[in-house]
Amino acid sequence: MNLTAENHRVPLSDGNSIPLLGLGTYADPQKTPKGSCLESVKIAIDTGYRHIDGAFVYYNEHEVGQAIREKIAEGKIKREDIFYCGKLWNTCHPPELVRPTLEKTLKILQLDYVDLYIIELPMAFKPGDAIYPKDENGKFIYHETDLCATWEVECHPYFTQPKLLEFCRQHDIVIVGYSPLGTSRDETWVNVSSPPLLKDPVLNAIGKKYNKTAAQVALRFSIQRGVVVIPKSFNPQRIKENFQIFDFSLTEKEMKEIEALNKNVRYVELLMWRDHPEYPFSDEY
Ligand code: NDP
Repeated sequence: MNLTAENHRVPLSDGNSIPLLGLGTYADPQKTPKGSCLESVKIAIDTGYRHIDGAFVYYNEHEVGQAIREKIAEGKIKREDIFYCGKLWNTCHPPELVRPTLEKTLKILQLDYVDLYIIELPMAFKPGDAIYPKDENGKFIYHETDLCATWEVECHPYFTQPKLLEFCRQHDIVIVGYSPLGTSRDETWVNVSSPPLLKDPVLNAIGKKYNKTAAQVALRFSIQRGVVVIPKSFNPQRIKENFQIFDFSLTEKEMKEIEALNKNVRYVELLMWRDHPEYPFSDEY
């Protein structure tokens, strides 16, 4: 596959295509200044990103929508150039809530459609206004639903998912790997027992050879495997850095060296919900 900055899309079975590199937009709303998502998405679009990953529960979807609309108004892009992925939150799993929830997202974005709408997590919570419903003892209130197998998968050099990747290849399923740089290492929801991915000596040594950073090597590794990546950055320099991965390629030997870094350790374990009957991370895949 010849991957270029202008065209790094992979085809999907329905005739659409998805860019292998996208911008992740999750940032802790308590710690992130208002407007930084807006600015970052605009910088990303100017840099060449055409895939944006967002969600209602990130509380900044209105900024993502505004950035896309402003860039369309400027004539920089057309709506169809952008691949936007939105997500159905845990409290909205009952089938009758899916359509109104999507419509709410479209209203927030002020866009006519999203390109992909996925189940954010396969663990349903009690429907209602509370995003994280809890009972009087502070225990999360779960909800039973008929679970669809739609699912995004953490994927990076420390969690390479060879079995899942092979299964998906055989069945023509494209994987979107979240946390491709090893997350922001926010201890409130990230398992930080695995060492920071970007400090890895192998990734750094390979990067040195190509005058690239460990982040660029990790991202290039994923797209060379056909795994879509959505690194999050709200820092202009790093947004650009993460896009500079189409002017070098890793040799087969280097790909193998990076594959060997796999530790089968998830950064995103969400242990606070491990007693949910649909908790997904105990399964082998
Ligand atoms: P990432 O692996 O993308 O890492 C993001 C962190 O790395 C941020 O702290 C960012 O800081 C920093 N960073 C970005 N670029 C560089 C660089 N070049 N060098 C050094 N540090 C860098 O983590 P996420 O967990 O955010 O995953 C990406 C996206 O995936 C999310 O934003 C979200 O859109 C999606 N996601 C979906 C999930 C789901 O359940 N469906 C779960 C988790 C994530 P800075 O901004 O300062 O650059």
